[in-house]
Amino acid sequence: MAEDNVKEIEDLVKIVSKLPGLGPKSARRIVLKLINNRDELIKPLTNTLAQVYKNIVKCKICGNLKSINSSCYCSSKKYDQICVVENIADMWVIQSSGIYKGHYHVLGGTLPSFEGKNSGNGLLIESLINRVKKNSIKEVILATSASIEGETTSHYISDSLKNTNVKITRLAKGVPVGGEIEFLDDGTLYSAFKNRTSIISD
Ligand SMILES: [Zn+2]
Repeated sequence: MAEDNVKEIEDLVKIVSKLPGLGPKSARRIVLKLINNRDELIKPLTNTLAQVYKNIVKCKICGNLKSINSSCYCSSKKYDQICVVENIADMWVIQSSGIYKGHYHVLGGTLPSFEGKNSGNGLLIESLINRVKKNSIKEVILATSASIEGETTSHYISDSLKNTNVKITRLAKGVPVGGEIEFLDDGTLYSAFKNRTSIISD
């Protein structure tokens, strides 16, 4: 870093380079673009970021993002299918593929492959069970990743849902082992959904 660099600019570059997919080089390009377009970019961005910071929260029931000014879609619409994903990025990928049109449940991560049996580990699993019971859900589709942690989580959930009558399915093995849902192409995702298999808990 050159000594005559302006602190404000360097601070912004540092923050921007923390964003996914951006290194210091592209961060600098973005910052330059912002500075050269103060009124068109910096001003609305500042306002929008402040709004998002103030108003966007995670729904405590389904884990999705919602505005504090309105109720979450999970409590408004009727539905009988829930697709369980690890994180919001996974949900967005499935949503944009158009393969599945039902409701989602965002766990907020996976259980560690060890000690998974006896702790929910801060994941939204209990509220998933409540949703299933409350809304007479017919099918829970487990779309966790094909990693060991994803499998552990999926087993834990199907165990937890044992006493409900819900049908539990798991995405087909089209998902490569260790595969993250977020990085699947639409074709793989489509076949994983279409060929999802029923989990029979013992
Ligand atoms: Zn919700």
